[in-house]
Amino acid sequence: MPSETDDLSAVPARKKWRKLAARICLLLAFGSTGIMVALEYRASRRPHAAPVSVQVSGHKIIKDELSGLANTAFGQSERGKILSERALLFLDQGRIVFSDQLGSARGLTWNEVLGQSAIYIKVMAMNNDAYLHQTHGQIMEVLFHETVHSFSRKDKRTSLDEECDAFAAGLCVMLAVEGKEEPELLMLDGVPLSDFIAKNYPDIGRSRDYQPVSQTRDWLSRRTGVEIGEQ
Ligand SMILES: [Zn+2]
Repeated sequence: MPSETDDLSAVPARKKWRKLAARICLLLAFGSTGIMVALEYRASRRPHAAPVSVQVSGHKIIKDELSGLANTAFGQSERGKILSERALLFLDQGRIVFSDQLGSARGLTWNEVLGQSAIYIKVMAMNNDAYLHQTHGQIMEVLFHETVHSFSRKDKRTSLDEECDAFAAGLCVMLAVEGKEEPELLMLDGVPLSDFIAKNYPDIGRSRDYQPVSQTRDWLSRRTGVEIGEQ
């Protein structure tokens, strides 16, 4: 049997609880509206895709080059196979988009807050509604560069180490597509990759525990010139 005192105190407690529940509902409603607005804003900034015919021709270039790559030393290496398989998966999932709205970037990864990321590859819009693809080697370079990034957590900032890995993959696939030999030390603009990246990304940090895709950190150092010190 509840006492009288219990009954009396239960009334304000119930009122308080109702008020609190109403407040929580209000907060949740505002919170979810805010999230929806943020998601819609993010989606509205997504680069527009070029017309379907451009997607079809671009995807065909990638498909053909990926199958041709299987006959090259890079394509047959463990690293080449892993990157090719991941790139083919992106292609099959419709997650490679050609766009003429990437600004100065030749390619980028677009991460959605919810849902899957997509790799965007630059195509140039010409005056007469025509579109011009990058060379096959350049398309594959961009694709493999971004594919390397896809192995990292999307909320993590890139690092000198990760960029060395991505640029190395891009350069190696481009050389393979163009039938050229890979030099031991990979260079861009006449300097080792690590120097090129340090110069072009002056604020970039290090990630001394970064694990290159299917390779060792010693390999990354030997091929790109990045210094591998104590962790
Ligand atoms: Zn990158």
